[in-house]
Amino acid sequence: MKTTAKSTAACPFCSGKGYFQLLLGGSETCPSCRGSGKERR
Ligand SMILES: [Zn+2]
Repeated sequence: MKTTAKSTAACPFCSGKGYFQLLLGGSETCPSCRGSGKERR
C-alpha cells in the first residue's frame, strides 16, 4: 500500500508509477502521463 500526497494527483492509469508492468515481462511507459506518474491536465 502506498499513500498519495494530496498536493500531487497520481496518474490513475499507472497508479503514479509512470509505467505499466507487462504480463509477459518488462514494462511500458504510461501513455497518459508519459512516464511522469502524475496526472496530466
Ligand atoms: Zn500514468
